[in-house]
Amino acid sequence: MALIVQKYGGTSVADVDRIKIVANKVKNEIEKGNQVVVILSAMSGVTNSLVKFCNDITTFYDNREYDAVVATGEQVTIGLLAIALQNMGIKARSYAGWQVPIITDNAFGKARIKEIKPDNLLKSLENGEVPIIAGFQGIEIESGRVATLGRGGSDTSAVAVAAAINADCCDIFTDVEGVYTTDPRIVKVAKKLEKITFEEILEMASLGAKVLQTRSVELAMKYKVKLRVLSSFVDAPGTLICSEDEIVEKEVISGITYNKDEAKFTLVNIDDVPGVSANIFKVMSNAGINVDMIVQSVSSGTKTNMTFTVPDSEFEKAKKAIEANKDLLNYESFLFDRKVVKVSIVGIGMKSHSGVAETMFRALAEKNINIMAISTSEIKISVLIADEYTELALRVLHTAFGLDKEISEKE
Ligand code: ASP
Ligand code: MG
Repeated sequence: MALIVQKYGGTSVADVDRIKIVANKVKNEIEKGNQVVVILSAMSGVTNSLVKFCNDITTFYDNREYDAVVATGEQVTIGLLAIALQNMGIKARSYAGWQVPIITDNAFGKARIKEIKPDNLLKSLENGEVPIIAGFQGIEIESGRVATLGRGGSDTSAVAVAAAINADCCDIFTDVEGVYTTDPRIVKVAKKLEKITFEEILEMASLGAKVLQTRSVELAMKYKVKLRVLSSFVDAPGTLICSEDEIVEKEVISGITYNKDEAKFTLVNIDDVPGVSANIFKVMSNAGINVDMIVQSVSSGTKTNMTFTVPDSEFEKAKKAIEANKDLLNYESFLFDRKVVKVSIVGIGMKSHSGVAETMFRALAEKNINIMAISTSEIKISVLIADEYTELALRVLHTAFGLDKEISEKE
């Protein structure tokens, strides 16, 4: 007998028919003699429209009331799944976050889970019930108010519950078959990965791949939760997220990601003296903006150019900050380019292979794709390129690193 945590995302509970399918999947596990705890998202699109309702009144809302609104989506799905299971003769009950309880800090709108008390869930299981928990929400004890965990937070709810009740595994059901080498909508020969490490998934998520909420992966890594991503639409094994030593045959590169939320600034003819980079960072961080890639060009005499990237969603804020600090930064002029994309290759195999960067840069050069900036970490290399080349870059890199799926004649 295994204790299984299953999380179903918005598309898996999109309507009553999908919820009945989920109920059947739970029933199958129960009939195998397993115990199941379910975490649910809201129906797909519902959280977006709840967020929009708030913004339609004002963007300066009280985060506690925002949470009161956006937490309601999950309350609908948990009740409906409980009804569907009961209708099949299976004992089930729904739990809002506060009923578990899932206790959070007071960062309303993007709260962190502080503690989950497992007793109620364990009692439910002992009574032969399937506990169905609202993802994305908890309670802040001091104020007694509902708090949500940030968009995509039900992944984190699931992993945290799995850790709290010491579950054998945590299965994240979604509408794709697992984690892919790259975006399969762009690269037709993208492959589903059988396994990928926590480190790689974290890197991929921060680089723009929308797989799992980052916090959920951090928790799974910390508490050694066996985490899988799989589809609720097709019966296939999915992708296991695991530690490095569980992967026997390491590919050099596991995934290729891209992020279009990038904008590039170049400060022209700034002083080539110590402290200039520090000033740029100060100006940006005072404005609450994260600088990502930086390149300083070779100086001519006492002047130099400095190029850096910020999230494109912060473009206007960044531009204002640069303009407002002209005296401090002492540039002659500045340029910007919002049509850029960051393409990254990720793989723990990089630690032990040389020549990875060369392969990447050469593959791009052969297609005449110009690299505007580069940044690296132990397990990733990112380049900034013109966004019109996104698809081409993904395809050539996918081929260059031997990731293309063999297409059988039938396909
Ligand atoms: N329903 C929430 C959202 O859309 C939480 C989740 O689905 O993970 O962000
Ligand atoms: Mg999600």
